[in-house]
Amino acid sequence: AKPIVAVVGRPNVGKSTLFNKIAGKRIAIVEDEPGVTRDRIYTEVEWLNYKFTLIDTGGIEPESEEIIPAQMRRQAELAIETANVIVFMADGKQGLTASDREIADMLRKSKKPVILVLNKVDTKEQSPHYYDFYEIGLGDPIEVSSALGLGIGDLLDEIAKNF
Ligand code: GDP
Ligand code: MG
Repeated sequence: AKPIVAVVGRPNVGKSTLFNKIAGKRIAIVEDEPGVTRDRIYTEVEWLNYKFTLIDTGGIEPESEEIIPAQMRRQAELAIETANVIVFMADGKQGLTASDREIADMLRKSKKPVILVLNKVDTKEQSPHYYDFYEIGLGDPIEVSSALGLGIGDLLDEIAKNF
């Protein structure tokens, strides 16, 4: 069976933007405000000689602020159950948050391969928050700009290393 790769992270970090960029088309809904509810979204991806299924877990994003933590835990649990590789996305502009730490703890404990991605790094300069992310114990962050399509090839290479 093809490996399954799931993208998890807080609302609004850019999961759906990355998903659409890799899918090469607009499947997931990208919203300026968090809170678009949709089913999980899948796409089949081919990268070099690799084939995998990519899931945007944020398709099931919450509508109210109060249930965001619970929804994120559910997303992370789903990813841990179903995915072979988990892409954990945070916001390189905003930096590390308490919710990021909470998801990171769950993912680390799962022992699944996790790739930490800092999105919204839109220039060649490193995120000013880069080194803060070492604290969550998920290794070297990979910096991307999903909107501009920067760093996506490096991310796909990193994903494929885990197949
Ligand atoms: P999701 O909730 O994690 O799926 O996030 P979305 O993909 O819906 O994106 C949330 C917001 O972040 C939207 O306004 C996007 O246009 C914006 N965004 C996504 N990726 C980038 C990026 O690489 N750079 C910048 N500057 N904005 C981004
Ligand atoms: Mg989304």
